[in-house]
Amino acid sequence: MSSAHYQALEPQTSDEDNEDIERRQCNSRSCTASATTTTTTTASHPPHPMVRKGGVARRRCLVPLVAGALFFVAFCYLTLSGDTRLALGLGGGAEDSEELSHHGLDGMNFRPLNETVHICSESYEDRRQFMQDKPQSEYGQLPVIYFVTPTYPRREQIPELTRLAHTLLHVPRLHWLVADDQEKCNGFMDTLLHRFGIPFTHMVSPMPSKFRNEKPAPRGVANRRAALQWLRQHNLTNGILYFGDDDNTYDLRLFSEIRKTQRVSMFPVGLIADYGVSGPVVRKGKVVAFLDSWVAGRRWPVDMAGFAVSLEYMAQYPYVNMPYKPGYEEDLFLRSIGLQMNLIEPRGNNCTEILVWHTQTKSKKLGMVRLESKYLDDRSNLGALLHNLKLMGVASTTESEGRDALISKNGKEKPHSKILS
Ligand code: UDP
Ligand code: MN
Repeated sequence: MSSAHYQALEPQTSDEDNEDIERRQCNSRSCTASATTTTTTTASHPPHPMVRKGGVARRRCLVPLVAGALFFVAFCYLTLSGDTRLALGLGGGAEDSEELSHHGLDGMNFRPLNETVHICSESYEDRRQFMQDKPQSEYGQLPVIYFVTPTYPRREQIPELTRLAHTLLHVPRLHWLVADDQEKCNGFMDTLLHRFGIPFTHMVSPMPSKFRNEKPAPRGVANRRAALQWLRQHNLTNGILYFGDDDNTYDLRLFSEIRKTQRVSMFPVGLIADYGVSGPVVRKGKVVAFLDSWVAGRRWPVDMAGFAVSLEYMAQYPYVNMPYKPGYEEDLFLRSIGLQMNLIEPRGNNCTEILVWHTQTKSKKLGMVRLESKYLDDRSNLGALLHNLKLMGVASTTESEGRDALISKNGKEKPHSKILS
């Protein structure tokens, strides 16, 4: 999920940061005043003035701070259910409660994962005979990659899915979870997905209407949540989960890399926001920090395409979740599965290579072709062609809007009746 354009929230604070903040607050007038008074009354063995000032002032500042924090904790315990706290993988401490509100996770954005999974069609049969240079039978022992693609109806949807399918066709032992952000199943898509011969599940899960008009809206969340629910319903404890948007570009080496995932793999994603990249900082083979131009308090400032999770690991976290919080989906998902820095496995040659690109397709509104419906029959190809384009959500026909469709021959425009009747 591209995040650079989202408004940063108040930065989240760590223990180290809290110390800094206390120090800054204690430099404010009231703290400095009380610190000075105390210093004069205990002048017999004055330690270094800066130390004393900071120490006493900090204690004075801490009293209201601690009291406030305790009140806040108690409040959160009373108002948030245990499930809510746990489902976020946030536990119940003071810092965690602050994180909850910091992320704006009130009842509006947070919902425990309990989606209705509506399956349009699915197939577990792998009809591909060869993948890359080997017959299918040679791949039998590999763990399955569950490749979750949220998608939504717009003019570019079918072309994007076609292009993605042609990448996935090269990838053995893959189950493609295509989760469409709409109410109704699209029969055209069922046919398309069947044709590829890749095992797949096609489901629909529309974004709840109250989020539709939000700016930014939580894009692709309802459908990823449905896919998570599907994985849970199937009690899958073997295999790897990867969130692969329909418009990204995937290097085939990505798949061999993520297949090795023991807990959580991470790797850089190309073409993200201002730096053209987002990904882990690795030292001596360990992830120690992150490079991303939009931090905004995220503990895991990574793109959705920048990590993979083993299902065996994820199964230990029954409250896995992805809240409706634009820009924070990755962070909060990874928190919900209890991620810790030392659990991260850097991939792509210690995060030096790009295995996935955050490409974006220019979007245009539906095409409109003005033609009299009497010509949309089998006297020419146009009836069937425009019918297919309508099913794909690419173009529509009209009898009244705009100017007549241009039909030409030898460089000259011809009346429709001349060519089509
Ligand atoms: N998406 C969706 N519903 C929406 C918008 C987007 O399901 O209303 C999907 C989209 O097909 C893509 C993912 O969510 O797979 C991320 O959306 P997009 O690529 O538009 O966002 P980006 O991350 O490129 O900003
Ligand atoms: Mn995208």
